[in-house]
Parts: sequence; structure tokens; C-alpha cells
Amino acid sequence: MRITRVAGAFAGIAVAALALTACNSGTPGADPSQGGDEPAENPWTVATDVTLEGSPTFDAITSRGSVNIGVKEDQPNLGYLDPTTGERSGFDVDIARWIAASLGYDEDKIEYTVVDSANREQAIINGQIDYYVGTYSITDERKEQISFAGPYFITGQGLLVAADSALTGVDDLTADTVVCSVTGSTSIQRIKEETPSKTVELSKYSECVEQVKNGQADAVTTDEAILIGYAANDPDNLKVVGEPFSEERYGVGIVKGDTAFVEHVNTLFTDGGDVWQEIFDKNLGAAGVDGTQPAVDPAE
Ligand code: GLU
Repeated sequence: MRITRVAGAFAGIAVAALALTACNSGTPGADPSQGGDEPAENPWTVATDVTLEGSPTFDAITSRGSVNIGVKEDQPNLGYLDPTTGERSGFDVDIARWIAASLGYDEDKIEYTVVDSANREQAIINGQIDYYVGTYSITDERKEQISFAGPYFITGQGLLVAADSALTGVDDLTADTVVCSVTGSTSIQRIKEETPSKTVELSKYSECVEQVKNGQADAVTTDEAILIGYAANDPDNLKVVGEPFSEERYGVGIVKGDTAFVEHVNTLFTDGGDVWQEIFDKNLGAAGVDGTQPAVDPAE
């Protein structure tokens, strides 16, 4: 098995996941210091009189008068749509909103489009979305088709299993283990290449979680930051096990060659003061995920 161990920075995540239940009972995004039902104020401000020379993405946004952002909506704490309130929340969604605000667009001028992992590059190439923020790892293969700003977060691949499962980590996977993941993800690719397990490929991680709950699959594999959200929502039935076994560097997906837009987003991440931290604390930190803001890599 050629699994790379990534210890240190991520090692605390699985442990933290076990202690999550107590922290996750509040409304996602609610600021306890505010009390009552008042929504917390955003840590960013909406810019005015923005110009961005030489960016086809910015030109398209300007002529349309709204921003079209590609997101996930079934990943609690990252990209989530509350079916009852209709509210979107999560670290990725807030990063996406922060970028929109830096271009001069508030929530009422944002359109969200759900794009599954397998369809991200095509949605960016087609111009169906202006940019994508949704647990999107920067890879060389994807960089042949699109550009990335970032990284803005780093996590690692892990395993989610039933609470009563005997599996303790990736080394326990055998030819008899059924592991579910998502088409077009780095997670499915790595588990196929580096373990002997049987695999099931679906469109969304929430569908894989259902497979584990009803016994059709033994494990879900993807980024720990994603898995921790599912475990926290159902700690009686699910747990995250083992140590992370990859490094996933999240980037903002942008049409290939729009360097002006990439530079704008990278500058926002670099010069954004406390905004990144506030977005992280509210969404992932509150859920027990460890993390520090990574330096952007202009070479992406
Ligand atoms: N970060 C990994 C990827 O981009 C897995 C999560 C996802 O599919 O969004 O492939």
C-alpha cells in the first residue's frame, strides 16, 4: 500500500471530531455573543467602485450585474443549504461571499449553482459559473483545464465509518471492504490506486454517508474537514477514524488564464486581515476542525 501519512497538523482532527457533539448544537453561523435571533454581522465589507483590468470573469459579472458562484450544498460546515430555512452556510460559502463582496456584490446579487465534484472543470470552462468554492483541491491535472487562486485551506483524506465499525484506519482496508466516494474527486482516485478495497462511486458525499448508515458500504472516504461535519451531525451512528493520508490544498476554481482575477483573490487572501480567521472560527473552528491560514501560492 502506498499511502502517504500526513501527521502533525491534521492529526488532531479525528480526535477533535469525537468531541464535537457539544459544540455543534447551535445554528450554523450564529454568533453566540449576539444573543437572540439576530444574525451575526459579516466580517467583510462590500467594496465600492471596483475595477479589475483585463479580467474576463469580472467583465462578465459587471455586464450581468450579479455573481454566479459554484458551490456544494450537502457538506455541513463547508457548503450547506439548510432545507428548512433555505439558508446557505459554511466556510466555503463564506469565502465565496467574501470574494463577491470584494468585487462589490452583496448577498442579494449572488446566484448559487450547485456543481458536483465531477462537473466542476466543465462548469468553469462553459462559463456556467464565475468561480467555484467547494472543497476543490488544487491538482496538476485540474490546472491543465482551469486556474486556481489559493490555497485558502489545507486538509487531508480520511475515513468515515459506522460508530460500531471495527475499522480503525486506511491500513485496515482489504479486498473485502466496500468504500464509497465521489466521481471526479481526488478521494476516489487515491483509494482506487492505493488500497485493495472495492469502491462505490456516487455524485455526492451525502449519498455515500447514507450507504454507510444502511450498511451498503463500510466507509466513506474524502477530506476529513468534510467527514467531520457528517460525524458531528450524527455521532450516535458515525465516526471518523485513523490519520489523514493525503494533503488536500483547497483553491478557488477560475477560468484558465484569468490572471487578473486570480491575483485579485490571492491579494484578498493575503491582505484580508482577520477576515479569513473569523470565517474559519465561525464555521470550521466551531466544529472542532484544526487549521491555520496557508500562504497563497502565486504559482497556482
Ligand atoms: N478535495 C477533494 C477534491 O477536490 C475531495 C472533495 C471533493 O470532491 O470536493 O477532489
